[in-house]
Amino acid sequence: MFRLLAVLALLLAGLAPASSGAATWNLTSFDGREYVPLTDVSQFYKLGLRFNQAGAQTQVLLASPGRSLRGTVNSKELFINEVKFILSFPLLAVGDMVYLSRNDLTKLIEPVLRPHRLRNLGAINTIILDPGHGGHDRGATSAFGVEKDFALDVALRAREMLRRRGFRVLLTRQADYFIPLEERTRFANQYRDNGLFVSIHFNAGSGVGTGIETYLMAPRLVPSYNGDGAPNAAELQQWPGNVCDPENMALATAMHSAMLSRLPLDDRGIKRARFHVLRMNELPSVLLEGGFVSNAEEAQKIAQPEFRRSLAEAIVVAIDNFKAATQDQPATPPPVARGEPGQNLDQIIREARSLSPAAPAPAQSSGTGPKVSVPSQN
Ligand SMILES: [Zn+2]
Repeated sequence: MFRLLAVLALLLAGLAPASSGAATWNLTSFDGREYVPLTDVSQFYKLGLRFNQAGAQTQVLLASPGRSLRGTVNSKELFINEVKFILSFPLLAVGDMVYLSRNDLTKLIEPVLRPHRLRNLGAINTIILDPGHGGHDRGATSAFGVEKDFALDVALRAREMLRRRGFRVLLTRQADYFIPLEERTRFANQYRDNGLFVSIHFNAGSGVGTGIETYLMAPRLVPSYNGDGAPNAAELQQWPGNVCDPENMALATAMHSAMLSRLPLDDRGIKRARFHVLRMNELPSVLLEGGFVSNAEEAQKIAQPEFRRSLAEAIVVAIDNFKAATQDQPATPPPVARGEPGQNLDQIIREARSLSPAAPAPAQSSGTGPKVSVPSQN
């Protein structure tokens, strides 16, 4: 019940006047789905809003010092401090306004921009690591090794690092044997009060796929990004994995940012799916795809122990950042200089890959727009 209340409180926080800018949210329905105009998002989160016409594309930039949200009308890609998120629904242009779905506002933007308003997860002390596949189920294969072995190796490395930091660490499998998905989540759900769940996988594709992905449970009424084995019409239903919708997003953000900053691979984004280990999981949970085993070049990298150590480090750093970002904070946090640790988005994304601002220059710029960049971190 506590969790349910926390989720409700978050929804309210995302849509009530609260202490931030917007006095009201102008909810509007298009095709039976609720949206808010970006002007409301801009006011509420105190982000400057600019549009830029690039050929047929309308680009959108919401920015304040130290943070930027960059998207494109009719696209699901949204870059927050240059980390790629896949929206549940594309940005929509109607008349002369651009709209964001209410779902993306409450389940993506809000937990990413204000993770300190989630329930306090600073007490988390148990990490469930879930190396994908095992036994006869080898996962993706290559000439350089197979997914099940790579995943287990990363989990064992992360276990040692996390133990040294005082966490209790439990693995769903500790060696090369098969374990059904149902057992993985049944095991994890015993630790719903103070645990986190991280499933470790590597990708397979048609040979051209590259890069890292982070998956989290799709909220109700949100389509899966791709095939996930969920039952038909799964999106109509609330699943155990939806209990932690906002926490999942904050955890995914921390994981993906930490991976990007450590692994020399492309950013495929933070995506929604209903994989069993996410769907039936009552802990804050994510599923990592740490590169493509099916791509020979990437498989060679993944086969290097240093690569897998970096991935394990990313998991550890992300857990630290996630815990810190969700600690209770003063009602009115002091303004924070860019790069200073300890606050909201800057804290949770400070691990993001250091990129120069690829944000579009404002079309009719007055030259006074906020400069946006991601703080450089080691
Ligand atoms: Zn896998």
